[in-house]
Amino acid sequence: MWGFHPRIMQRLVSATIFPLLFYATPVWCSAVQFLARLTPLDRVIRLSGIATMGLLRTVSYEVAVMLAGFLPAEFQIRQRTVEFYLRQLTYGRNLITEEVRYAEPSHATTPLDILDFEVAQLDRHGSLPRHYLQRVETRSFWTVDPTSESWTLVPSILDAEVATQWIRQSRPVSAPDELWIFTDGSVDGMDCGASAVLFFGSSMTRQSYSVRFVGNRSSTQAELVAIILACQKVSTLGRFRRITLVSDSQPALLGIQRRQGITLLACRACDALSTIQTQTDELRLWWTPSHVELEENDQGHEAAKLATRGHPTDGTLIDIPHCYTTLRTKIRRFLFTQVNRQWTNSERGRALYSVMPTFSSSIAWTEGLSRRESALVAQFLIAHYATSSYLHRFGLREDSECVWCGDDGDDWEHRLFECPRFEYTRQRLAMEIEIDLEGAQCWCREFLLTDGRKYLAKFLKAVHGATRSCLEDLDRE
Ligand SMILES: [Zn+2]
Repeated sequence: MWGFHPRIMQRLVSATIFPLLFYATPVWCSAVQFLARLTPLDRVIRLSGIATMGLLRTVSYEVAVMLAGFLPAEFQIRQRTVEFYLRQLTYGRNLITEEVRYAEPSHATTPLDILDFEVAQLDRHGSLPRHYLQRVETRSFWTVDPTSESWTLVPSILDAEVATQWIRQSRPVSAPDELWIFTDGSVDGMDCGASAVLFFGSSMTRQSYSVRFVGNRSSTQAELVAIILACQKVSTLGRFRRITLVSDSQPALLGIQRRQGITLLACRACDALSTIQTQTDELRLWWTPSHVELEENDQGHEAAKLATRGHPTDGTLIDIPHCYTTLRTKIRRFLFTQVNRQWTNSERGRALYSVMPTFSSSIAWTEGLSRRESALVAQFLIAHYATSSYLHRFGLREDSECVWCGDDGDDWEHRLFECPRFEYTRQRLAMEIEIDLEGAQCWCREFLLTDGRKYLAKFLKAVHGATRSCLEDLDRE
């Protein structure tokens, strides 16, 4: 099991070990007040980190969690508690009611006190106001009676090329009493825009509408707002023989189709669509890929973009809830800044700190490297790298002389930049870097320890091979 690639190990640990360690966290989260109680948990996290990255057993806790991208126990508990609160809110249950917040003070700290404190912290320092959390987009268990089959609208999602072809062929031959609607949503940070462009028959004259809104919203939400906007406009226009609504968002179209766990906006879009369904003999929901030079779709895209930038819009602004995933990301980001503060102030793992100053749960840099190579690089990053100086420092060697060239200071710098034994390997890899990155990077410390770990791995592997054969030679002597 310990032979898996770091990325697989990271997943395995997060999917099997952590759920056990943090089972029912919201119930016992008050443990975060007594850090000593978390020691057993942190010990497991450290071992998981060591197993994930293939590190030596002497590695400190801080280094193991930073390298493997695992949050320390304290922060996992805090994160799980707030996320539990947020998830409950999406189903319309607010755990922190006014009565709870202003209840008689008691000496014991309850899990709810911890939760309230976390939410208050986010409110004060995390630029995530309490009322944002409480206005998270809700979900319904069921939209309609699950046994009824009143909803018959099925979005058509075809292969990208076929979908575009279909629209290109159908539009020019459509009659004047056919309506075509192209919707699009756009999100740029906190600025969001949604647009609907209407075409009658094959004509290229259009009616364009857009709305602007601000907040933690996802692009799927913006797309759904665009569909709602379109329906609002169409409902004032009378009857059509056929209405085709074209959206470039598959998540939005599939969201509408969901019957279970449907989001509030998807639900509203369903309602809006069923209103315009009464105005036509046939209502079609089509998907098109975006940016395929489909003139109509590009116009919708442009209108939505302009709306995010504050260009004048029309139509009423609909009351739009905050996006669950965006809020969750903000919560995590806030916790990460606190982890980073601890890491900055820690006395351990300073070698790693110089190349990895901030916490990231991603270990994407190990992609393309084998488990062995990842472990070699990781040990190099944390300066647990068996050069003669290193071994000498721990009394495992009599001197710090280089076994190949006899230089009296064999440290990582000597290996990486000076030792003539590896000059050929160095030049070969330097050339590879030059070709791969078109001269933008070279054989230097900054690059090798950060974005160039792939090349560092190759070098370390070569050195490792040489060390082994060198030892074998010594044995023979
Ligand atoms: Zn040397």
